[in-house]
Amino acid sequence: MSAPASYGHSGGRSLELLSVVAPVYNEEALIGEFYARVCSALEGLPFELVLVDDGSTDGSQIMLDRLAAEDPRVRVVFLSRNFGHQTALTAGLDHARGNAVVMLDADLQDPPELIVRMLDHWTAGCDVVYAVREHREGESTFKLATARWFYRLFDRLAQVELQQNSGDFRLLDRRALDALLSMRERSRFLRGMTVWVGYRQAAVPYRRDPRYAGETKYTLSKMLRFSLDAISSFSHRPLQLATLFGFVISTLAFIAIPLVVVLRFSGSYLPGFGSVTIAVLLLGGIQLIALGIIGEYVGRIYDEVKGRPLYLVRSRLNMPDAEDESLAPLPPVIGERSHPSV
Ligand code: UDP
Ligand code: MG
Repeated sequence: MSAPASYGHSGGRSLELLSVVAPVYNEEALIGEFYARVCSALEGLPFELVLVDDGSTDGSQIMLDRLAAEDPRVRVVFLSRNFGHQTALTAGLDHARGNAVVMLDADLQDPPELIVRMLDHWTAGCDVVYAVREHREGESTFKLATARWFYRLFDRLAQVELQQNSGDFRLLDRRALDALLSMRERSRFLRGMTVWVGYRQAAVPYRRDPRYAGETKYTLSKMLRFSLDAISSFSHRPLQLATLFGFVISTLAFIAIPLVVVLRFSGSYLPGFGSVTIAVLLLGGIQLIALGIIGEYVGRIYDEVKGRPLYLVRSRLNMPDAEDESLAPLPPVIGERSHPSV
């Protein structure tokens, strides 16, 4: 495959194939437009578009079938049910064959036109190029505020440094992708994991557009679970905070003991009941919170220990190298890497 001049050997990297990976969940209204925008943005470049259907229940499947039939560059993975955004993205990355890979949302909030600028950084030797949202259009004040709180909290708690306002829109070199794919943990926070792998990283600012069509697929509960996954996979700080709270409260109690004794013998009147009730409730509450925090981690350990596959594939299109073209049963390595690196 011949790469165009601008992506030739300058900087030591030549583009053999660019994989563009996008998850799709009930997006029938925008798949056609997304495909058109990607094709026009990447005209002349050798690319494949890996679309992952995350258990859509609308007409997305028909649209994807049609696209794959018309264009062999469109490769589709249908998951057996809705596994969630991060897992769907992982499934797409598993199937990407490119030596550079871009992941972005299908709703056109991440403009495909930016990919060419990201590729410039990659050609210059960067391994992870992430897009940073300078403006976010068409999103509710609630979403923007909670996103801001989350990034601030994550920054305080986690051991990786995440750029404020960087989403999952990023370009990875094959070696960074291979490192990422070797991490098969269940609670996936891809934007943190791509920073964790290190190598040479670069940021590209962009303007995040409103959704092209349809509604956000991230409900409040999905967002909450996502934030908990993010923090628990990159930080033990909540557990340490629980311990710290325990020490603070016990210290208070130790200080209170002699105080009560002195007051008792000095004859001061101690009504007691109110303060005791408050102390019992406070301590009970703190203990339950600490148990809850531990529970979040234990639950995740349990999920990991079960060792289930990350996702199940129902069928694939335009993937002659995959064995289950026609809904044949999958090999037991489902969800593990199915392609060797290019
Ligand atoms: N998505 C998915 N599975 C889900 C939820 C979302 O594959 O369970 C896809 C969705 O189709 C879109 C991308 O993930 O392409 C981002 O989702 P969305 O735009 O709803 O999230 P937001 O941009 O509002 O955070
Ligand atoms: Mg979106």
